[in-house]
Amino acid sequence: MGFEASEKVVELNARLQAFMEEHIYPREHDWDEWCLDQDNLWQVPPWYDGIREKAREAGLWNLFLPHEYAPWSPGLTNVEIAPLFETMSKVTWAQAVFNCNAPDRGNMEVLAKYGTEEQQEQWLNPLLAGEIRSAYAMTEPQVASSDATNMELEIRRDGDEYVLNGRKWWTTGAVSPRCKIMLVMGKSNPDAERHRQHSTILVPRDTPGIKLVRTLRVFDSLHSPGGEAELLFDDVRVPASNMIKGEGCGFEIAQGRLGPGRFQYAMGLVGLAQRCLELMCARADERVAFGEKLIKKTSVQHEIARCRCDIEQARLLTLQAAHVMDTQGMKAAIPYISMVKIVAPNMAQQVADRAMQVFGGAGVSQDTLIPHVFALARFSRIADGPDEVHMSQLGKLTARDLNGISR
Ligand SMILES: Cc1cc2nc3c(=O)[nH]c(=O)nc-3n(C[C@H](O)[C@H](O)[C@H](O)COP(=O)(O)OP(=O)(O)OC[C@H]3O[C@@H](n4cnc5c(N)ncnc54)[C@H](O)[C@@H]3O)c2cc1C
Repeated sequence: MGFEASEKVVELNARLQAFMEEHIYPREHDWDEWCLDQDNLWQVPPWYDGIREKAREAGLWNLFLPHEYAPWSPGLTNVEIAPLFETMSKVTWAQAVFNCNAPDRGNMEVLAKYGTEEQQEQWLNPLLAGEIRSAYAMTEPQVASSDATNMELEIRRDGDEYVLNGRKWWTTGAVSPRCKIMLVMGKSNPDAERHRQHSTILVPRDTPGIKLVRTLRVFDSLHSPGGEAELLFDDVRVPASNMIKGEGCGFEIAQGRLGPGRFQYAMGLVGLAQRCLELMCARADERVAFGEKLIKKTSVQHEIARCRCDIEQARLLTLQAAHVMDTQGMKAAIPYISMVKIVAPNMAQQVADRAMQVFGGAGVSQDTLIPHVFALARFSRIADGPDEVHMSQLGKLTARDLNGISR
């Protein structure tokens, strides 16, 4: 099927593109240099909030929430959101300018879907306004966290409060002073059925008893200004009203948290890969080796062709995932979500690798975003659930759906 964008989306995408040209591409390298300076650790550049405000005023804000999340959604379908994500992802830090970045977008979705009015008032509204940041703390160092039912952090009811004890790591964004709230998953009902033992609870970042054990480096980068934290929870007390949806709903929330988020993640990787391809083509057209431009060399032509095929396949698959979500609902989209989760990070890693090679030494330097894309695509094959978990799920679903068809 075709995925022609509606007039509304063409216009919105053009405005987004113009915003990227005016405010983001010119500052791409400033951001890297500023964030790498140790004196600026965990801070944002001085110009950053100004351009976020401009994006908000321009209505280029919270575009990640599909129309069923009214009144907070700008009213777009998943298929309409997809090309916007490609555009806003062509610079590694740009999604956050439009308040569309992970992990905040998944957390906002949880609060919009499951939060009480009080929880929405206290935490969702400031997140939607971009006034605060959030984190999602599921993964624990001592257990295989690709299986969410393994989580051990204890959530114990004590009168009008819950008490949390345990350890989390890889909590993205939790090092930033802007992070004010965390969605923490832990075990509250150890005697219940395996998928009903866990809960997700809201924990303000400054609650006494939360200790930052260390910041983790990703391929030796601190990922400032958000960071990835290892946290100790030592008798951390929060009001009972901070429980999201109810005791025992943690696994359901973990599964549901990344519905639209997963195809948006994939479309982000398509955007980054497309940018690598654009840079690769420009470089091949100007760089001369052994008497001719690189673009004249068959091997370079083939690498460019492979990139284009791979990106277009991933783009169309991601649009299809969004289309199935729009027309048949989340359940029908599950196999497509698994497919894009497997395909998009691997595709972006391959494309970045090829672009790197065409750039030679410059390809591994700070002069382009290519090394960032390579690293991001590589850790994405773990961070949002390892490839193997998505492949096993897809394999099982496929065997179930196709079993008996050939007979
Ligand atoms: C940069 C980054 C950011 C992250 N951000 C967050 C965050 O914000 N919040 C959060 O809670 N977590 C976050 N994570 C953690 C991430 O979700 C976990 O690393 C991931 O779920 C895998 O869990 P694990 O590391 O315990 O690996 P394990 O569960 O120990 O798995 C290790 C390996 O075992 C293999 N494996 C696992 N299951 C299967 C299977 N079924 N079949 C075959 N092989 C299998 C895979 O090769 C897998 O990579 C982040 C991770 C990274 C790297």
